Amino acid sequence: MKNCAIVGINWGDEGKGRIVDLLCKNYDFVVRYQGGGNAGHTVVNELGKFALHLIPSGIFHKGIVNILGNGVALDPESLWEEIISLRNRGVTVDENNLKISDRASLLFPWHKMLDALEEERLKDKKYGSTKQGIAPFYSDKYQKKTILLGELIYSKHLKEHVKDLLEWKNLILRGVYNADPIELEELYKWVEDYTEKLRPFICDTGKLLKEAENTGKSVLFEAQLGSLRDLDYGIYPYTTSSNTLASYIPLGSGLASVNIDETIGVVKAYSTCVGEGPFVSEWFGEEADKLREAGAEYGAKTGRPRRVGPIDIVATRYGVEVQNATCVALTKLDVLSYMDKIPVCVKYELNGKQIDEFPFPFLLEDCKPVIEYLDGWKQDVSNVKTWDELPTNAKKYVEYIEKSIGCPIKYISVGPERDSYIKR
Ligand code: GDP
Repeated sequence: MKNCAIVGINWGDEGKGRIVDLLCKNYDFVVRYQGGGNAGHTVVNELGKFALHLIPSGIFHKGIVNILGNGVALDPESLWEEIISLRNRGVTVDENNLKISDRASLLFPWHKMLDALEEERLKDKKYGSTKQGIAPFYSDKYQKKTILLGELIYSKHLKEHVKDLLEWKNLILRGVYNADPIELEELYKWVEDYTEKLRPFICDTGKLLKEAENTGKSVLFEAQLGSLRDLDYGIYPYTTSSNTLASYIPLGSGLASVNIDETIGVVKAYSTCVGEGPFVSEWFGEEADKLREAGAEYGAKTGRPRRVGPIDIVATRYGVEVQNATCVALTKLDVLSYMDKIPVCVKYELNGKQIDEFPFPFLLEDCKPVIEYLDGWKQDVSNVKTWDELPTNAKKYVEYIEKSIGCPIKYISVGPERDSYIKR
């Protein structure tokens, strides 16, 4: 059995979906083990351009079983919308190629309501949530105040459990936020509707993966977001509410005994960040606009313009370390082709001192980037297929990053299409 994890090294949007799409044909299963419908993994293939939110990026390949593990925030509305939109574009999504863990927890409509209400209450101190209900969902999961997907099958018990949860949730909606309560009958209808839709997909995916392990099948694990958004190791409180690190795979996938043979960390050739929080190498004004346009940096889920800047070596090295990455896939190298000089944030300056270790999150606000420049290559590299064909300065840039982050760069992506890449 050969297992691989594909994880984000930075703030997310590194191009994980594109790398999963490229490599998943070698695997029997593709598993999402954390996060929810707030992701936006973009895949470009022969059927067009797709932004996947919950469904693993292996869905386009015949013969692959895609699993939503127990660690995901199972938003039935977002999932169903995604299933229908994929089917409408000719992609097969059925109970043979998509399975949902019976131990995944259900994201209820009140999670989205509470997410929006809390962001509104915070005003200019908001976290920059995508308002998909992720933070309220995970808080409830840890309070044991949501239901497992497997419960949908037991209707009598389900009604009782949903009623109890709503009673408690309405106290919060009314008492804390002065919002309208949710009607029980309305909620029952919602639950019945999605039970009917999702029931065929629900099974004991842990058992399925254990059988796969025993019979030597291979599994690819697909993460959402990146190291810096990890709840425990990221830029708290501007993190997501789940663990984005590969070390969460045994917990969130349903395969507690898993061995990961390779962890591919996806790094963008420059930095981008969606939402609030410190971003030391951020650019503003004209040069930011130029990079944002060159890289088409607008959120896959929300359409929000992404914050952009030079690659941040300090953050990337930290991201590689906490992911325990065995190699790196560097994406979007083609985007930098317009630059005369390529900026690299090599260190931070904090209180007059230069540092090269990623500091305690709170101190990031006071860090200034220390920038060095490498020569640009000023030619289109989007059709380059081999390392030897890459312009010398592009090679030098890749080698420079590789050396500074201390991890081999095995894949270089030079375009969004499946075959626009170089394998070293
Ligand atoms: P993910 O969430 O990590 O999968 O990343 P996103 O899908 O949010 O963002 C990556 C974006 O970059 C998508 O629009 C991809 O189609 C695009 N992309 C990925 N790799 C490359 C590349 O090498 N070059 C270019 N120009 N675009 C790329």
